[in-house]
Amino acid sequence: MKGTLMQIPFFDLKGQYAEYKAEALQVIGEVCESQMFCLGPYVAKFEEKIRDYCGCKYAIGVSSGTDALLLSLMALEIGAGDEVITTPFTFFATAASVARVGAKPVFADADEDSYNIDPARIEEKVTEKTRAIIPVHLFGQTAQMKPVMEIAGRHGLAVIEDGAQALGATQNGIKCGNFGDLVCFSFYPTKNLGAFGDAGLVTTNNGELAEKVRLLRVHGENPRYIHRMIGGNFRMDNIQGAVLSVKLKHLDGWNEKRRGNAVIYDGIFAGSPVKAPVTEPNNFSIYNLYTIRAPERDGLREYLTENGVGCGVFYPKPLHLQECFTELGYKAGDFPVAERLCSEVLSLPIYPELRLEQIEHVAKTVLRFYE
Ligand SMILES: *Cc1c(COP(=O)(O)O)cnc(C)c1O
Repeated sequence: MKGTLMQIPFFDLKGQYAEYKAEALQVIGEVCESQMFCLGPYVAKFEEKIRDYCGCKYAIGVSSGTDALLLSLMALEIGAGDEVITTPFTFFATAASVARVGAKPVFADADEDSYNIDPARIEEKVTEKTRAIIPVHLFGQTAQMKPVMEIAGRHGLAVIEDGAQALGATQNGIKCGNFGDLVCFSFYPTKNLGAFGDAGLVTTNNGELAEKVRLLRVHGENPRYIHRMIGGNFRMDNIQGAVLSVKLKHLDGWNEKRRGNAVIYDGIFAGSPVKAPVTEPNNFSIYNLYTIRAPERDGLREYLTENGVGCGVFYPKPLHLQECFTELGYKAGDFPVAERLCSEVLSLPIYPELRLEQIEHVAKTVLRFYE
């Protein structure tokens, strides 16, 4: 049987490249002819398109999702002596950005079902020093924003959403990019809308904050060589703006395919030893990842790999237990849900180009492990 082993990679970006290749190469060619590489007309055009897509007032193209977080914290003037509440079950950049501006990340445990920050755990973490909350919309589903905004309102806190994995998701029919003061997106190639390299975005409905983010993006400079703030180089490449404009037209179609793939998995996993991801009733998930909870996760992971099925663990270690955060003083047991998730989660291939028989093969290989 070895020779007939079906190989299914965890990501396959080459599959969709064919769909938009001609148009992408065309616009890349135009950028090359213009020799305008850092910001430029394609970035400006993309900002308009993505602003309309999100249905928000302002969209600012930046250098990465990580830089979007950093810029948002800088725009809110969060720094030394301040605390920012976020989840320990997320990608490193969320909490690292808080530390990078000199503030202290304070964690609040995750929710068992949605994997997102548990709003019921946030308020107990608020102190005199708290300045902001950063909910993360993990795997494609928006964290529950109504309670988050209520807590923020009661205590006068800012809200920065980490929407890196949730472009196109909605909650109560409202597009991700509109709830908090600032919303951060990533166009890392494996996100649902991926650039040809690094790129990111900040959206906001607050004109003053938009202006500040724009200024901080270019060393706080306006006009040329007059620096009104200390910012940095957070510019988006013109080439990325061009490619992203081309790909944005496909995003909703790709997201629909991901959702269809999730339905197929859900059906096969119903009543099985693995737990399919739970989408909350007011959420429309765009499944950046399809993340199950699996008994004997590490064994299953090895079994899938041996059988040619790609998979990944997002995330294997909660942030409060990361070596670089030892100074924060957390210990194992502090966030039991996040810790449990880290030992049980496994993400399966979910990209739009998967064929039905491939999805069935992945799911059946998972279930065969438990026979
Ligand atoms: C990808 C990601 C980021 C960082 O985005 P980059 O563009 O890779 O810098 C931040 N937060 C979350 C939740 C992410 O998934």
